[in-house]
This record gives sequence, C-alpha cells and structure tokens, in this order.
Amino acid sequence: MTGLEKFKYLIDNSFRIVGFTGAGISTESGISDYRSQGGIWEKFTPVYLSEFINDPEKRILYWQRKKALWESIKNAKPGMAHYFFEKLHRQGRLHGLITQNIDGLHEKSGLPPELIVNLHGTTLELVCLGCGVISDAHSVMDHLNPEEPPPCPLCDGLLKPNTISFGQQLVPADLKRAEVLARGCDLMIAAGSTLQVQPAATYPMIAREAGAQLVIITLSETPLDGYASMVFHEKLGTFLEKLERLS
Ligand SMILES: [Zn+2]
Repeated sequence: MTGLEKFKYLIDNSFRIVGFTGAGISTESGISDYRSQGGIWEKFTPVYLSEFINDPEKRILYWQRKKALWESIKNAKPGMAHYFFEKLHRQGRLHGLITQNIDGLHEKSGLPPELIVNLHGTTLELVCLGCGVISDAHSVMDHLNPEEPPPCPLCDGLLKPNTISFGQQLVPADLKRAEVLARGCDLMIAAGSTLQVQPAATYPMIAREAGAQLVIITLSETPLDGYASMVFHEKLGTFLEKLERLS
C-alpha cells in the first residue's frame, strides 16, 4: 500500500473522525496566513483587548484592520480541504471539527455549526463586551465606519468581532468541547496547521494518547510529526486531489 492508500484505508475504517484545521487550509481560498512570514501579524503591532476597551485610537485601528479582513473573508469560498471534512460528515464519519481559523469557511462548506469548535472565535459574529449578546456580523461590517462603529443596540456597550484578541483568554467551554472531541475520536486529521500555537496544538496529542490514529497533512514540519501515525508534507489541494482519485 502507498501512504495515500493507507490513509484512505484509515478513513474508510473510522467512524469518529475529528478534524483539526489551521490557516493552511484557507490560504487556497485567498485568506492570509496570519502567522506565516509576511503575514498580517508580522506587519502590524497587535491591539490588545485592554487597548480596544480603553484607548479610542487603538479601537479605531482595530476596526480598520477588521474591515480590511472582512472584505477578504465575506466573499471567500471554501476550498478542497473544507469540502473534504464536509464530505466525511455526509458519510457519517465525522465526530467533530476543531479549527484555529476565524474565517467561517467550515460553516460555509455546509458543515453543521454544532460540529465545529472555533477555538479562536469567528469573524462572522459580533459580541457585545457589555451584555455578551452575540449577533451576526454582516449588517454592521458591510456598513462599517471604523471611526464610529455602532454600539450594542441592547445596552449601548462596545461591540467587537467575536474573535479572540491578543490578551484575551480562549473560551473555557470551547476548550472543553475540543478536549472531549479529541478524547473521543478514533482518527484525528490535522490539516494546514503548524501545530505550534498552544493550547490548540495539544489536541492532536490528547487524541493520540487516548488511542486514536493521528494523521498530519501540512506543508512544513510540525513538532508533533514524531507522534503521528502518518505525516504528509504536501500542498493540501494537490494531496486531496490525489486522494479523491483513489475513491
Ligand atoms: Zn450589549
């Protein structure tokens, strides 16, 4: 069996697959890879949550960046990797999906939102820092003036995209859901993540230690390659095309 055939064999014999995805699966949809060389985070000084709340100038800067990001995200289409996981769901094999991405492309691919853990939140929603109500981002973002973002209609509080900012804790309920998924899967497929951001990157490890197979598909080497059952250092699109041809 070739490596690819072995991977297909694993998929065909797994019924509680969990996906773990990172920026690499969205670059083919035209979304920037934040953490890579020359990515958005290298060019800009981050705005911390405390600055967003307390410093009006930093808040404007934050909204200007989010508006620019929104333009690329709102029209982005899911790529092959997103549809790969959606297909696993239709086949009844997908137990859940944990993603580091904030672009909402897994939802757009048709994967039910209740199967998805957005560890770093999602740009498709806004959250009120006052009352905590979460709302759809489209109506606000499409007409946004970064210098005068609208307040929460319920409490007049500050609205913010529902993504995890610098200096902001990940949501405990999401961390818990991700851990439960990792412990309960029979195969974890980590795709397009460098597996370097903690605590996110611990989930493939948790899955492995709980007895699951772990397959890593990403362009560059990761710190968990030595723990994986199989590793493919390939461009995702090319890799999935080859896999498709086996089916
Ligand atoms: Zn509010």
